[in-house]
Amino acid sequence: LIQLYVPLNFLGVLYREIRQSLTDIERMFALMHQHREVADAPGALALPPGPASVRFEHVDFAYDAKRPILFDVDFEIPAGSTVAVVGHSGSGKSTLARLLYRFYDVQQGAIRINGHDLRQLGQHSLRAAIGIVPQDTVLFNDTLLYNIQYGRPNASRAEVEAAARAAQLEDFIRELPDGYGTRVGERGLKLSGGEKQRVAIARALLKNPAILIFDEATSALDSKTEKAIQAQIERAAEGRTALVIAHRLSTIMDADEIIVLEAGRIVERGRHAALLARGGTYAQMWLLQQQEEEEAAAPAA
Ligand code: ADP
Ligand code: MG
Repeated sequence: LIQLYVPLNFLGVLYREIRQSLTDIERMFALMHQHREVADAPGALALPPGPASVRFEHVDFAYDAKRPILFDVDFEIPAGSTVAVVGHSGSGKSTLARLLYRFYDVQQGAIRINGHDLRQLGQHSLRAAIGIVPQDTVLFNDTLLYNIQYGRPNASRAEVEAAARAAQLEDFIRELPDGYGTRVGERGLKLSGGEKQRVAIARALLKNPAILIFDEATSALDSKTEKAIQAQIERAAEGRTALVIAHRLSTIMDADEIIVLEAGRIVERGRHAALLARGGTYAQMWLLQQQEEEEAAAPAA
């Protein structure tokens, strides 16, 4: 009997766990993101608050040893400046964002903040210093208020509202019967890709961190909303250290440095005008996007 009981009991526990996970899959993801792959080093240092410079130092990285993704990626984002990364899909842009947030550790080289190797920093203080707008935002099964305030749980209601306004969410929220109390996520109101992106942007603006990462943060927005948010993003990035992965090149023309990534390697770098003059990959991407935008703007025949 014992032999039967033990596995059944185990199944019961497992079942409850799975059910819990499924009903709260977002929370599960949040937990999973505290990856087992990375752990605090003994005596890990808490990153002090304040301006932060970021340095990728000859970074090699692979999710799977058989398939390297990044090769000798080397660049710096001085405190208070903005570096943009562009490149075709699959070139490794989001991987840079994930590495800076330390979802994974690099295999060669190092990533440093104010000279400290990420592997020597406490994860809590690292993530407190970084606001990230990921490419795909997963919302918590909770209210809109919770989802925005998550950026800074002790923020006042007025601060939450200011962040929502900056992220062009105000009208959207006002029209919901339950306003900020509207439940979203898998079990609540399903937000569109663009609405989720705006929640993530509001969250990051509210957090007001030393380092901001935007990973194609406006890719699901129509160009009018994108323009409106762009100004807010630029204002938020002012004086902060920002890594901006660009979807539309027109949004990163003013970056202090633009890095062009191709198959995990930096192939070009510089400011917008210099890269255009160079007539390489960036210039080609730029021309292509200009054409696409002109075609989109042209009246239908
Ligand atoms: P980008 O953001 O430039 O489109 P990514 O950084 O997302 O590119 O991906 C770079 C490469 O890494 C792609 O070939 C992708 O398939 C691979 N990749 C991304 N995430 C994972 C993962 N979790 N496990 C294995 N491979 C991955
Ligand atoms: Mg990406």
